[in-house]
Amino acid sequence: MDEEKKSMKRRSFVKGLSAWLLASGAAVQAQAFSGKIPGRDEEDQRYVGQEGKRFGMVVDLRKCVGCQACTGACKVENKTPRHHFRTWVAEYERGEYPAVHKVFLPQLCNHCASPSCVKVCPTGATFSRGDGVVMVDDKVCWGCGYCVNACPYDKRYFHPQSKTVDKCTLCAHRLDSGLLPACVESCVGGARVAGDLNDKKSQVSRLLAGFSTAVLQPSQGNRPQVYYIGLDGSVQNQVRGTVNLDDLARMRDGKPRREWQTAYK
Ligand code: SF4
Ligand code: SF4
Repeated sequence: MDEEKKSMKRRSFVKGLSAWLLASGAAVQAQAFSGKIPGRDEEDQRYVGQEGKRFGMVVDLRKCVGCQACTGACKVENKTPRHHFRTWVAEYERGEYPAVHKVFLPQLCNHCASPSCVKVCPTGATFSRGDGVVMVDDKVCWGCGYCVNACPYDKRYFHPQSKTVDKCTLCAHRLDSGLLPACVESCVGGARVAGDLNDKKSQVSRLLAGFSTAVLQPSQGNRPQVYYIGLDGSVQNQVRGTVNLDDLARMRDGKPRREWQTAYK
């Protein structure tokens, strides 16, 4: 069956499923879809992932300089729409004058081992590959947004053109070609390290074994697979507190930060 026919079959399946869900009221109580998706080739590596591997990331916050090279590299690599990002670096101010310092917190989908987004997806569009990468099949996603609400990390967005949900894939297309995710490759400080957590000799495993690490919002129970070295306890549960992207947007629009305006006049 050629790709176009497969895609049409999937779309009509999703249409039929949505009609059934709406008619039965099941859509109100979102539940994970456990059936087989027509047209999805279970042998296809894009869906099953890399055998025997379990991907994750370690971010060494001692090395992050907040340059946003990762944010830009991801945007270019994954062609995310205007005003939407799959990864970014949040910026926080801590301390009291004159002992003030900045905390940078690179964020992305945590590729959780117990992902609440997968649990609520009613169509099976959101799923975990065997190697731990959490994906969205945009041919199956109907844009209901349950997963967006279910993600405690705010790491999903509604794509305005495709009308489906989008998020970080850990650059699965690059991993499957033996390359590193774009954010890792572009990280000027070497703060982002991605790799196989099942391989004890990989750099991620050695960092996890050698340093004390923490995850964001551990109480959510999602078991994130993005680990941080040097995570400031005051931001561990405050993932939404970014001012930095607003500042970038203002700079792009030619409007400097409020505190810079006097100097610009
Ligand atoms: S961070 Fe959010 S989108 Fe990513 S796997 Fe976890 S719950 Fe799902
Ligand atoms: S590229 Fe590396 S150093 Fe720069 S902001 Fe991203 S994580 Fe931090």
